[in-house]
Amino acid sequence: MTTKINEKQIFTSYLIIGAGCSGLSLAIKLIDNKKFTEKVILLEARENYFDDRSWCFWEKKCHILSGIVSKKWYSWTFSKLKGESYTGSSKKFSYQYIRSIDFYKYCIKKIKSTSNFSIINSCKVNNITKKNKNYIIKTNHGSFTCQYIIDTRPKNNSFIKFPFLYQTFLGKEIYIKSSSNINQNNVKLMHNMKVDSIGLSFLYLLPISNNIILVEATRFSLKKVKRAQLIRDLNNHISALGIEKYKVIREESAELPMGIVKNTIVNDPNYIFFGINSGNLRPSSGYGFLRIQKWAKICANNIILHSKPIGPLKENLIQSLLDKIFLNVIYENINICPELLTKLVKKCPTSSFIRFMTDEASLLDYVLVIISMPKYYFFHYLYKIFKKKLNA
Ligand SMILES: Cc1cc2nc3c(=O)[nH]c(=O)nc-3n(C[C@H](O)[C@H](O)[C@H](O)COP(=O)(O)OP(=O)(O)OC[C@H]3O[C@@H](n4cnc5c(N)ncnc54)[C@H](O)[C@@H]3O)c2cc1C
Repeated sequence: MTTKINEKQIFTSYLIIGAGCSGLSLAIKLIDNKKFTEKVILLEARENYFDDRSWCFWEKKCHILSGIVSKKWYSWTFSKLKGESYTGSSKKFSYQYIRSIDFYKYCIKKIKSTSNFSIINSCKVNNITKKNKNYIIKTNHGSFTCQYIIDTRPKNNSFIKFPFLYQTFLGKEIYIKSSSNINQNNVKLMHNMKVDSIGLSFLYLLPISNNIILVEATRFSLKKVKRAQLIRDLNNHISALGIEKYKVIREESAELPMGIVKNTIVNDPNYIFFGINSGNLRPSSGYGFLRIQKWAKICANNIILHSKPIGPLKENLIQSLLDKIFLNVIYENINICPELLTKLVKKCPTSSFIRFMTDEASLLDYVLVIISMPKYYFFHYLYKIFKKKLNA
């Protein structure tokens, strides 16, 4: 799956740094538009692609990536450890699962079928300078010159300091020898939520088949969580499920930021950033896959119509305010998280909750989300946020 090019100096109109979810999504959206004939090069640090992540999202029946969806579930559960639980379901939406390896293969096949796109693997970008109207990019594969850069590498120091949390998880796809009695039609989104000195802990569980499940020990915390802690959490979750013997098929892990990106003002319209620290993840949830697909479509259209790429899409004002309130609440009151989340999903109509989670909420959905939140916390942090704005 790797392409190796050893030219010393290559010119391209568009250079995409990082051929992960964002870089590849943009490439395929440009390829899908047959009128686009400019040259595009993707530079990717990894040598090979693996099934390194499971992308899940709520969607309606048919969409452009339906062909690579591995599984869909129509019900999902949130539960507190030894306490309340809530199972939501929807006829309109399902929780869909795309294996990253299927997505990578799908995109790379498309890229390889074109003459104007190429992807260079094992290519690390070291240095970028601007000369007249062009950029010079130095890499271990030689030097590139281009007019426009779309940089999807994680950027440093891009979040406001407070409220900021880490969402850390370690997941294992496991084969269970004796067929499990785990409900195949239900996803455990936040299972056995509890809070300890490290932060909020819960299990995320996708039943993939009768014998295969993906189990992920997840933490929301103010400080980074060590891998050893996640291993302990995961072992505890697995034994709480009554699973004794299993074989690990693959592993995935992440440390995702949950915070507000500092500044999305674009200083140079020919060089845009779009990565996990530049606004492609939803601040309050860490979900990014659908946001990336939406951005890729709009960015590709802009390139086709006006030549220029565009950065993160403007956040809806109400959504952004609610995300800030939510982050403030969990940052300062992580203890109440299990109670707050189970109450919220219980009270809020399922479709409104899903549209809110997928950046598609209507005004009515926002109202329903707000009235499902505990009033004290909502008004307390609303007041704090406005006071801070007035004092700024
Ligand atoms: C394990 C995991 C599970 C996730 N699950 C979900 C989910 O279920 N649903 C959801 O909505 N979101 C999920 N996310 C969040 C989000 O969708 C992903 O993180 C997504 O991959 C982000 O896309 P990206 O393009 O910003 O980053 P990536 O996909 O990581 O791509 C960035 C690319 O840049 C390359 N790169 C880095 N440095 C350089 C360099 N110097 N030169 C060249 N290339 C470089 C990297 O190798 C990488 O391929 C998950 C994230 C992880 C890590």
